[in-house]
Amino acid sequence: MRFDPNQPHRGCEVCYEEVNDFEIFKIGEDYHDVCSPCIKNYMTAQISSGKVNKLECPHCEADIEPQLQDIVGESLYKKYERFKLNIEISTDPLRSWCVIPRCGGIVPYESKSAIEGACGKC
Ligand SMILES: [Zn+2]
Ligand SMILES: [Zn+2]
Ligand SMILES: [Zn+2]
Repeated sequence: MRFDPNQPHRGCEVCYEEVNDFEIFKIGEDYHDVCSPCIKNYMTAQISSGKVNKLECPHCEADIEPQLQDIVGESLYKKYERFKLNIEISTDPLRSWCVIPRCGGIVPYESKSAIEGACGKC
């Protein structure tokens, strides 16, 4: 996308380029001074390295989750959900992954002291 100085524009806080407003990342009606390619690169890097705990706008730390699928696209968003689920399960004393290889099911436990639970999938 070419920059048009005659259109409304602002500076991206990540790459320091002047960018037209329609290329700036928005949450609702609010402009966040980061251009679309930068927000996408940033989120892609975060997700790819498994940093999915708290995804926030690089410019103001706003929660980015509700916009995430639009930013990174469906396949990366799926990856993000898997990472997130993994973290949830590994920190949840009442759930664990099924021990059967490739089952991918989640085993709920009735209490923290329970040793066995039934896989919901196999
Ligand atoms: Zn940028
Ligand atoms: Zn922001
Ligand atoms: Zn299972």
